[in-house]
Amino acid sequence: MARYTGPVCKLCRREGEKLFLKGEKCFTPKCPMERRAYPPGEHGRFSGRSGRQSDYSRQLRAKQKGKRIYGVLERQFRRYFTEARQRPGLTGLNLLQILESRLDNVIYRMGFAESRSQARQMVNHGHFMLNGRRNDVASTILKPGDKITVRENSKNNEFFKTLRQAEEIRTPPAWIETDLDNLSGRVIRLPDRAEIDGNLNEQLIVEFYSR
Ligand code: SF4
Repeated sequence: MARYTGPVCKLCRREGEKLFLKGEKCFTPKCPMERRAYPPGEHGRFSGRSGRQSDYSRQLRAKQKGKRIYGVLERQFRRYFTEARQRPGLTGLNLLQILESRLDNVIYRMGFAESRSQARQMVNHGHFMLNGRRNDVASTILKPGDKITVRENSKNNEFFKTLRQAEEIRTPPAWIETDLDNLSGRVIRLPDRAEIDGNLNEQLIVEFYSR
């Protein structure tokens, strides 16, 4: 599956806020948003972000932010939107639930990776089993009841050994269960809106695709 391979910090600077795409670095003074919180490019510093935005521009930015946070390219994001519209309930919430249910995101939420991109790389390298079978497709959409485990061979990997011994691990959200001793976890249910990043505006994304 294609993915964005350019400099990710530029994406935060373009959106004008931290998207937390690089794990630990995002919480240190090395984060470029601490020093250069203006858009990238020759004229970025003088681009005047404060001007009034058109409706289209706000919708576009909301959609781009969603894609960038979850590391999804346009074609797949649009496919998720089509699927969200076909599901019963609110399209915006359905879209966020689909994005949250991606295998790479669930692994990140479980605390087995520092960022979604790291989780994606670990999945691609075949470190995880889904319901007892090896799965190396990061875009797999999980359902309630699905169980993820680190493969036996990978448990001796230095990264997972350190993770097991770590005293502090990010607390997983209530819709996910994590068993750090056994390096496994389970999706209990779909997340509620309050359990998903609050600064995503799904309504603007729906408006963008409904134009
Ligand atoms: Fe964004 Fe993290 Fe880079 Fe800061 S360090 S600009 S939050 S990806």
